[in-house]
Amino acid sequence: MIFGYARGQGNRKKTFGALILGLYDAGVPAFVGKVGTGFSKDALELLMQAFRSLQAKESTLGQVDVSEQITWLNPILVCEIVYQSVTKDSKLRMPRFRRLRSDKTPPECTFDQIRPSSLQEYVSKRDFSLTPEPVGALKKEEGATFVVQEHHARRFHYDFRLERQGVLKSWAVPKGLPTNPGEKRLAVEVEDHPLEYGKFEGTIPAGQYGAGAVKIWDKGSYEPVFWKDDEIEVVLNGEVLSGRYILVRFKRAGQKQWLLIKAKARG
Ligand code: MN
Repeated sequence: MIFGYARGQGNRKKTFGALILGLYDAGVPAFVGKVGTGFSKDALELLMQAFRSLQAKESTLGQVDVSEQITWLNPILVCEIVYQSVTKDSKLRMPRFRRLRSDKTPPECTFDQIRPSSLQEYVSKRDFSLTPEPVGALKKEEGATFVVQEHHARRFHYDFRLERQGVLKSWAVPKGLPTNPGEKRLAVEVEDHPLEYGKFEGTIPAGQYGAGAVKIWDKGSYEPVFWKDDEIEVVLNGEVLSGRYILVRFKRAGQKQWLLIKAKARG
């Protein structure tokens, strides 16, 4: 959304140099950067005309850290911006103006759309017009469910998924989950999956990523005992699996390989 503009220089003297952009974060507008490129001559003039009736007396975006003098606007205009990435302090990197979006309303401009998502890899690997898998989204609720899915892919394996911070942390376990105390299995870390995936059963069509049938083998809840970068301990309460399980990241075999161990009873 456009909250204001900074004065232009040179051939942009009569229009503007950059737009001040913001998004609603839990209802409060937050500054997400400024955009100074991507405008056609027509767009510059059209926007300038629209700005005339929108001028505000004071900042509509709170305190904003920019050196230029800003003309504040009532935030009504929604625009589409393309950008390379989002910085750690939640600003758009290399933003470029694309167009005004009269089909979108200001309340739709929420911070969520730029919040970095750990589901980016999941989404980028799949064509959701072809696969029945859920698109999903990062969720805020923090539950503690787990699921094990049989995956009849080119190489049959099981997928072990633990809900954590709004996504399903996932491992492919070629030989299935160990059920006897002391048993160990290789588990290969794969991309985070959306929570909706925990309910997914179906067939991923040929030619798509992970093509083959997916079936739920076990599901339930778990209690985390501890969760560290390279070691995780949980207690599973499933229909098939129960008890203490430990995941330990291999130090030598590369970052993605873990050992999944069914813990021995204490005592
Ligand atoms: Mn799989």
